[in-house]
Amino acid sequence: MGTTLNTEVKKSTTSNLQGKVAIVTGGSRGIGSIIAKELARNGAEVVINYNSNVEAASDVTQEIEDFGGKASYFQADVSNSEEARSLVENTIEAYGKVDILVNNAGITRDRTFKKLSEKEWNEVINVNLNSVFNTTSTVINAMLEQGFGRVINISSIIGQAGGFGQTNYAASKAGIIGFTKSLALETARKGITVNAVCPGFIATEMVEAMPEKVLDNMISAIPMNRLGQTDEIADAVLFLINNGYVTGQCINVNGGLYM
Ligand code: NAP
Repeated sequence: MGTTLNTEVKKSTTSNLQGKVAIVTGGSRGIGSIIAKELARNGAEVVINYNSNVEAASDVTQEIEDFGGKASYFQADVSNSEEARSLVENTIEAYGKVDILVNNAGITRDRTFKKLSEKEWNEVINVNLNSVFNTTSTVINAMLEQGFGRVINISSIIGQAGGFGQTNYAASKAGIIGFTKSLALETARKGITVNAVCPGFIATEMVEAMPEKVLDNMISAIPMNRLGQTDEIADAVLFLINNGYVTGQCINVNGGLYM
């Protein structure tokens, strides 16, 4: 017999995430909070991780409960391996499993390289990149055992194109892309997909707080001539959860700024 084409695909996901358990790191504010709400709206039970702002985490949880979704919040500095482990272990203890991990927590400490301190370098690498190792390494065995998993890492256009005064941030976000592709290779036969989303400039508090002139210049450089919306990032995350044949990719959501 010649080669048999196996066209049967196990329909593991639809946009209905009922029964799925998700962790969103940095899910209390900005992009992460919109991702958390979108997953909950689609039926997932969502654990909202935060570091310092308990009020924001509690507000997002309440909002989700108000529309009939299921969520809880958990404090952990994900740059700390023990705290990241406790986030994952507590989720498994409470919900029995983790199906979806969204590594979204991130910070900036922008400064030109000449003036950049070792502390500012390490803080950004620890929160943005080492956190991805910390959470994913704890969750991966459980995903391998259950034969299903979605790992989505929030990188950035800066990791692809670089950014002035952002050597630390760009290195952390480029590191995420390399990590994503490598882990995708290692898990592709095990029901796990690993992808990144690379947002361009998104209308969050941080971006909107920029001086008007800087913001205007930035927007005029974007082919679509506008900032991205947080729900446009959440849509990309949802797509990557629902599609079982996309892995090792970096989905650019940037209005055409980097192609
Ligand atoms: P944001 O509004 O500043 O929110 C950051 C979130 O991360 C908060 O929930 C914060 O929690 C949490 N966090 C920070 N450090 C943490 C730590 N050590 N452990 C656990 N949680 C921590 O950020 P954002 O603009 O939404 O960005 C979200 C992600 O998208 C980041 O990875 C960022 O690099 C990426 N991104 C953003 C843009 C943009 O235009 N905004 C563009 C490209 C990529 P607490 O408040 O409790 O500290």
